[in-house]
Amino acid sequence: MSFPTKYKYVIIGAGIHGLSTAYHLAKELKQKKVGSGKDILVIDKAAIGAGASGIACGIIRNNYFQPAMRELIAHSVALWEEDVEGYGYRPVGYMQISCESMHADVAGIYKQQQEIGYESLFIEGEKECLKYMKKNIFYDWQAKNITSILHEKKGGYAHNTKALYCLADKAEAEGVRILTGVKVTGFKTNKNSVTAVKTQKGDIECDYVIIGAGPWAKSFWDMLDLPDQIDIKDNDGNIHKNAKMWTYLCLVEPIFQRGRFANN
Ligand SMILES: Cc1cc2nc3c(=O)[nH]c(=O)nc-3n(C[C@H](O)[C@H](O)[C@H](O)COP(=O)(O)OP(=O)(O)OC[C@H]3O[C@@H](n4cnc5c(N)ncnc54)[C@H](O)[C@@H]3O)c2cc1C
Repeated sequence: MSFPTKYKYVIIGAGIHGLSTAYHLAKELKQKKVGSGKDILVIDKAAIGAGASGIACGIIRNNYFQPAMRELIAHSVALWEEDVEGYGYRPVGYMQISCESMHADVAGIYKQQQEIGYESLFIEGEKECLKYMKKNIFYDWQAKNITSILHEKKGGYAHNTKALYCLADKAEAEGVRILTGVKVTGFKTNKNSVTAVKTQKGDIECDYVIIGAGPWAKSFWDMLDLPDQIDIKDNDGNIHKNAKMWTYLCLVEPIFQRGRFANN
């Protein structure tokens, strides 16, 4: 097949976001009778799962502290449940077993889960937690100072590579084309719209571009000449001017192995 010069939808990144978007967009276009997977191209500079999706631990949980995530994750868990075998999904649930300093935060998460009907249990108090763990999980549980347990009945873990290739197969079955080894280097724009994606192998004209580039998102932000600093409104409505758009928190090995590497 020759290198494409035009596609209606170009999705950059063949990780979990790019592939899932391709598959679900293809189904949506077909269902609405406004197109099909044949209108969609996924490109990746390396390979399927070459980014974070290929090294993720595969844990599927809904106890992130950010409230905005709650319904999104509930929706995402429902998608995993659609093809348990294909995605290598093991719906064993998820537990957050915490000490007292985390009690109030986890209680807040539990409350939000109840509000949206996401099934979970919250056990409070050291004695109750010990009893729950011994009775339901490990009869010889011994950990001390545990004062709360959030037991999500949904979620679990999945085999990340299996899930990615399953999504790629599903997308291709809908007519999506996936091209690997194609690096995006920039965009052609007209006023504020992207009209083509520039790659090392040539330009691809498009009506819509979807960037699923995970940790490489900043490089696309830069390619689009978007600002390094932005204004942010806090919970009280105050505007913080010129906040840095990108901040990277870098965990380096010595943090985990301080004893061994402290003097390096
Ligand atoms: C060690 C680790 C463990 C994790 N564990 C979990 C977990 O247990 N549960 C969980 O939910 N999340 C986990 N995460 C987070 C999760 O992996 C990511 O949020 C998710 O994989 C991001 O997917 P993505 O598709 O957005 O990005 P990615 O999977 O990173 O995909 C981006 C793709 O874009 C491509 N790309 C980049 N630049 C270009 C370019 N210029 N041109 C063309 N292609 C380009 C890359 O090659 C890559 O394949 C973990 C992350 C890490 C690093």
